[in-house]
Amino acid sequence: MIRITDILDKIQQYNPKADLNIIDKAYIFSARSHAGQVRLSGEPYLSHPLEVAGILADMKLDTVSIAAGLLHDVIEDSKAEKKEIAEIFGAEAAHIVEGVTKLSKLKFSSAQEREAESIRKMILAMADDIRVILIKLADRIHNMRTLDYHPTEKKKKKIAKETLDIYAPITARLGIKWMKIELEDTAFKYLQPEEYAMIKSMVVKSKEERKEYVEKVKGLIEKKIEAAGLKCEVLGRFKYFYSIYNKMAQQNLEFEEVYDIIAFRIILDTVHQCYEALGIIHSLWKPIPKKFKDYIGSPKPNMYQSLHTTVVGPYGERAEIQIRTREMDETARLGIAAHWSYKEGVRGDEKTEKAYAWLQEIIENQKNIKDSNEFMENIKIDLFPDEVYIFTPMGEIKSFPKGSTPIDFAYSIHTEVGNECVGAKINGRMVPLKYELNTGDIVTISTKKGGKPSKDWLGFVKTVRARSKIRQSIKTEERERSVTLGREMCEKLFRKNKLNFNSFAKSEDMEKAVETLGFKTLDDLIASVGYGKTTSAQIIGRLQAIDEAKNEDKQDAILSKVAERPKKRKDKSGIIVKGLDDILIRFGNCCQPVPGEPIVGYITRGYGVTIHRADCVHALNMNPERQIEADWGKEDKRGRYPAKLKIVSYDRVGLLADLTAGMKKNDSSIEDIKIYKYPNKTADCIFFIMVRDNKHLKEIMADLKRVKAVQHVRRL
Ligand code: MN
Repeated sequence: MIRITDILDKIQQYNPKADLNIIDKAYIFSARSHAGQVRLSGEPYLSHPLEVAGILADMKLDTVSIAAGLLHDVIEDSKAEKKEIAEIFGAEAAHIVEGVTKLSKLKFSSAQEREAESIRKMILAMADDIRVILIKLADRIHNMRTLDYHPTEKKKKKIAKETLDIYAPITARLGIKWMKIELEDTAFKYLQPEEYAMIKSMVVKSKEERKEYVEKVKGLIEKKIEAAGLKCEVLGRFKYFYSIYNKMAQQNLEFEEVYDIIAFRIILDTVHQCYEALGIIHSLWKPIPKKFKDYIGSPKPNMYQSLHTTVVGPYGERAEIQIRTREMDETARLGIAAHWSYKEGVRGDEKTEKAYAWLQEIIENQKNIKDSNEFMENIKIDLFPDEVYIFTPMGEIKSFPKGSTPIDFAYSIHTEVGNECVGAKINGRMVPLKYELNTGDIVTISTKKGGKPSKDWLGFVKTVRARSKIRQSIKTEERERSVTLGREMCEKLFRKNKLNFNSFAKSEDMEKAVETLGFKTLDDLIASVGYGKTTSAQIIGRLQAIDEAKNEDKQDAILSKVAERPKKRKDKSGIIVKGLDDILIRFGNCCQPVPGEPIVGYITRGYGVTIHRADCVHALNMNPERQIEADWGKEDKRGRYPAKLKIVSYDRVGLLADLTAGMKKNDSSIEDIKIYKYPNKTADCIFFIMVRDNKHLKEIMADLKRVKAVQHVRRL
């Protein structure tokens, strides 16, 4: 717990001339007012105003703000009155404390998130004195830090949602980045604990893996910029969890696909040096068109300034780079608070005035607007610039990510409306379905009974809901088609063999066949035939085998024969597991065994036997009780098995052509190639190939090794 002396020390560091008397008095007043009260954490209540004051001191605010921070809950939680506060601490402090108290009384009902009237009051409080909102934000920061002590999940989620909906956008608008990050990440943790944990663990893992990469890029940048005679500081930072999650969710990406997880930041002394450094970076690595943004020339409304560029980095990867001065870096972190310091007087400097301009404008407009909903529309556009607000024909307001389409709107009403959507009208006029919605649009959807979503829609919808519903519908339809088609194919082939598929369909043998072929239901099996993954001949084959087995006096007889029975090969893979050839097998993806190599089987729960190379790490680690002998049986000349090769080589012209020519000679197919080029003129080629067997693989590796400049070839 922070102590009052820590706070006094902090203030004295940035403002040696500060009159600490008011802080001392506020501390004593607060301690008296809250005497006997405890927080949910069990700590004395006083710990809360102390922490809030500590946060305000970290933001280097003036003494009146910090005193007001210590007093912010005294009116609400105790008998203290505004008059008394004004007498002891002055009208200014009392006014601020009253403002915070008023805000605390606002009820944000979860049913009406971002409720118009509440945000309106916040905005008005901000315009009245920005310090009211800074204290309220510090208060929220500490309440989020101690959210764990709330007894119910429901309450925690409600507070977290309110933080995400109302407080985080305000911090963004005021440019206080550190608060935005902390509020969003903490709210995310409580609202979506599983997703939070998943992303956190991936970032931790990725940080470990990319340590070297980050150091290397930082080193390269420093060297180049220092060579030009400039002094700089380079940082390589991972984005925060909620921003990564948002990117994944909005653009439907996997974690690995979010390329700009690390942002490099170059900090210099002057604006001139920033542009010079930009030139150096662009001559070092190729910039990606349209990714360059000059927020120094045209700052964001929240005063943020920086140069942004994305380049093709040293390993052919995309790297995001921000270039700014130290002062701009400070502003990026602290936002409006950076310009609201103890020395700046009441309304701060010119920059603060600018930041206030949007507030002033809102207030000016406010005078002409009586309706709080209309007022809200203006605010929302300001607070949530990445969203559009549109109306249903009934006048209801809905928000969507920028770039959303009538299809997104249709799915937000009901899945069926989305699926059956055939046309859209905006403000009464027909528009294409991929029209981008604008704030204020009135959207009408026309539907046709039995209509189906088109695959093309996936190319332009923006909401996760629409995307997943379209996918689902397409999948269901594909499956229905496959079942119909599969059934026809089965009926035909069965008829050819003088069998009746539909009477077999009800038999016990069929049930067994479905199970041994690895399906849950007969429909799954039929659908697989329709997809072309299973043949109807396989079903007949399986039914015959089941029939034969019945005649062979069942298990006992089979098992007693296993020992002396010559090893028979299984139809497709050729694998024999412990003398039994009729077992469902799969190959381990980890080691990709090819015929001729020593292998071992592993009995998996409910899915047959997985085959690994005998020296595969997974095989070595597996439970010995579930390990089972396996070998390749008679070789299958037509079989093709995947293998991955890594070819380490000097990078030279024509290398890839020579490598692929070597492959062709050996009658092997290449499925995919990945190339990594390094600054030291070497290259790693990863070949994904298909081979017949171990001998074939060895021949290929020997031939690749003979190619000029190749250093070594390794199996992955
Ligand atoms: Mn409080």
